[in-house]
Formats: sequence, structure tokens, C-alpha cells
Amino acid sequence: MNIVLAASEAFPFCKTGGLADVVGALSQQLAGRKPNKVLLFLPHYRNIRRVSSLKVVPGVYLIPVGDKIEQVSLSYINWGNVLVFFVGNRKYFDRPDLYRTKLGDYLDNDERFILFCRAVLEGCKFVGFRPDIIHCHDWQTALLPAYLKTVYKLDAFFTRTRSLLTIHNIAYQGHFPYSTFEKAGFHPADFTSDKFEYYGGISFLKSGIVFADNVSTVSPNYAKEVQTDPSMGFGLEGLLKFRSKNFYGIVNGIDTEIWDPEIDTLLPIGYDVSSFSKNKPVSKQYLQQQLDLEENPQKPLVGVVSRLDYQKGLDIAASVMERLHERAQFVVLGCGDPMLEKQYRDLAKKYPADIAYEGKLDEELAHQIYAGADIFLMPSRFEPCGLSQMISMKYGTLPVVSKVGGLVDTVTGYKEGADNDAATGFFINTFSENGIYNALDKALNVFEDKKMWNKLVKNAMLQDHSWDKSARDYMALYQKTISY
Ligand code: ADP
Repeated sequence: MNIVLAASEAFPFCKTGGLADVVGALSQQLAGRKPNKVLLFLPHYRNIRRVSSLKVVPGVYLIPVGDKIEQVSLSYINWGNVLVFFVGNRKYFDRPDLYRTKLGDYLDNDERFILFCRAVLEGCKFVGFRPDIIHCHDWQTALLPAYLKTVYKLDAFFTRTRSLLTIHNIAYQGHFPYSTFEKAGFHPADFTSDKFEYYGGISFLKSGIVFADNVSTVSPNYAKEVQTDPSMGFGLEGLLKFRSKNFYGIVNGIDTEIWDPEIDTLLPIGYDVSSFSKNKPVSKQYLQQQLDLEENPQKPLVGVVSRLDYQKGLDIAASVMERLHERAQFVVLGCGDPMLEKQYRDLAKKYPADIAYEGKLDEELAHQIYAGADIFLMPSRFEPCGLSQMISMKYGTLPVVSKVGGLVDTVTGYKEGADNDAATGFFINTFSENGIYNALDKALNVFEDKKMWNKLVKNAMLQDHSWDKSARDYMALYQKTISY
């Protein structure tokens, strides 16, 4: 199958969150399955990593954005079996960050991703690759299915091409004013509420949901929530319900070449399910030393690796940490909301022996936290899939998670008095400060029962959250999509 993935980020080239991990790992998985041919298109941002051997496709091509004509160039690298194309346009992509500055979103994000969507389609022609399927991700590439069904409807090059849009987080939709609709070049007659129009402007994500042949999101439970619960659907619940026959939930996997405590070279010593009780404490001690926490093997260590954002519920978790700091240590690695960053900086200053905060993106420290912590906290208000809970389970660090989205699909909650033969973590039953407190309290109590704790750790480490199954599910969905 000829597959194009179009996305605004992919690990290891450019990353702000889980989307990048998913796109990177999925593209590799798909390309590893013969006879697939996989092209991945990304914007050529200034700080693309790992591209010393970039090659340039000779020539440039032109893309209209509003009443301007923009030049686009393509560079590429062979990444395993994936051919990665970087869409180059200095004006739009040669910037320090992907989407925003400290002051807020780039004001021309609409133009940047109009250009990108059209440049992917024209790029396929430029390199002579006819896709059977174009798999788009999130609002940044959601106009692409709309272009296929409108501007490119009669283009013979794409007659066989079908589209799948995957929603990684419905809270980000790409809403812009009417002028953006005009810049995108769609026919004015299509500015209707059943197509592009959204509260007088254009919504990129809505347009993608309307026009994509199939739509998916990153867990079955989140797929249910966004259709039925207005607080989860962020205004698109009605449309998703309308498209429910074409709406699927496929859980993400984790890349086990990056996330496996047995082969992880960033840890002081590796471990697996038979050696964790001996070797995992070495990682804990290393982490405590590195963060200047009290070196105490007995004290449970709770880790957080997360964007600091309303979604993640860490605003209300801070006071729980303060309440529990005598019973447990906490380490928070994350950046984002400046108010939250300050809250955690202050907290760490107040209790330096028990609470550590690192306000940066740090892959290495993230690995050390997944390995060195005993418990991983994820009190999300909503969570489309979540990768961190799967990573932490793989590292034998038991997740304490909200009962939402993909967390429900991937964690099996501990039940008091039950045998817990399948349990892999703890659920926060009600989303509130006390709810988080109670769940952590329960986890800390079970931590004292070493027999039960080790059983849960083993259960968690033995879960298979590798990409293999998810990639098979995506292939099946691609087959269904191209049969339309
Ligand atoms: P989301 O995509 O909503 O941010 P996920 O749980 O799906 O959340 O994925 C988050 C990914 O980003 C995980 O791989 C996590 O380890 C990583 N991550 C988040 N914050 C940081 C950070 N400050 N440093 C390093 N990695 C981070």
C-alpha cells in the first residue's frame, strides 16, 4: 500500500508532545510491513533534529495562500524504511518554535498549515508518489482531506487516494476567522455549517471530520467520550456522533526500542521483570541523588512527566503533594503554563528534600523518572490515550490515573480485598483534590505491602503496549478506508 503520513511533528525530528511519538513510531511500524511504501511529510522547522544527511529534491513548486504565491522546496532523508520529506518555506517554518512563542500562538498559524496541507498534496505529485491513503493528524493537517474532496476532487492523480484523519486531542481544533477560509482557497459556496463554517469562521478540525473518508481517535473509550460528553467533545460531539459509523478508536503503542528498561542506556543499570526488585532501586537512588532529594530507599517516590497544562490536572495535584510530602517524595518534570511552573518551583523550594521540580524538556531525565519512581501520577481532566502511563507500567512504576479516555483502556485498577491478578495501577475515582489524595493514599498503603506491590509491578511490566498491535489495527482501518 502507498501510504502518506502528514503531520506537524514526529519524533525524533521535532516534538512538543505525544503526537510526535505516535507519528514517528507508527510510520516506522507501517514501513516495516511489506509491501507498504511510506512517506512522512513534516514542516521543515528551524530546529529539525537528526538531519545532518538531508538531501534536497531539485527545484521548487508553488502554493497559493490567500492572494500570495509561496515557494516550497522539499528535502528528504531515508529514515529506516520511511522516506521523510521536509516541506521548506523560510517565511513560515524557519522559526525558533513549532507553533508559538512565549507570548502565544504564531498569528499566522492558519497560513502556515494551509500551506503545509496543500504542499503535501503537491509534494506527492512533485516526487511522483500516488498515495492509496493519506493519514492526517490533528487540526494542523485536517484541511488536507477537505482539499482532496473539493479543490482536488477532479485531479486524476488522486482518484484512488482516500484519507484518514486521526484526532490526538480534540481540545485543539484550529479555529480561525472567515478570512482564513478565503485564504485557504475553497469555493465560497462551501462555507456552510455542514462543511467548513463554524461559528462564523472556519474550524480546521471540523472540516477534517466532515471530509475525511474515515476518522479515528487514539482510544476506544475517548472515541465514546467525545461523542457523548460535551465537556470532552469540545463542541464537536454532535458531528462526531453523526459520523459515528466512520469513527474508530485505536489505542497508541509505545516505542519499545526507546522505552524498555532492559535495554535503556540512560539508566544506571537495566532491569526486567525478573530483576526489577534488585536493579530498579539503583535507578531510584540515582534519581534522588541527581535531584538532591533525601536518599531514602524506603520512601515512595512519585513521578510526573508531563506538559503543564489545564488538561493534565496538575494545578490541583500540587496541594495534594504538599499534603503528602511527609509520606512520599515527588518529582515533577514539565513545562508549559507559567503560573503552574511557578507553583511547582515554589513547592520544590519549600520542601527540597521531598519535592523536586524541573521546568524543561529533558528526554534523559524523563527516562530516569520512569525508572526511578515507584508511582507515576497522571491526574488528567481528559486524556485521549496517554503514553506516559504505558511507559511507566513498562518500567514497573505503577500509574495513579484519572478514570478518563485511554487511561481506562490501558490501566487495570487495583481493588481492595480482591486478588488483583490483573491490576496494573490505581484509579482516581473522582476528579478533585480529595479524589487525587485518596488514590495516592491507597497506592501508598499498598506500597507498604511488598508482596502485593511486587505482584502489581510484575503485572504492569508484562503488559504488551508495543506498536505491533496498534499498527495492525491501523493497517486494517487503511484497508477498510481504501475500499470505499
Ligand atoms: P500529551 O501528548 O498530552 O503531552 P502523552 O502522555 O500522550 O501526553 O505523551 C507525553 C509524552 O511527552 C511522553 O513521552 C512524555 O514522556 C513526554 N514528555 C512530556 N513532558 C516532558 C518533558 N518535560 N521532558 C521530556 N519528555 C516529556
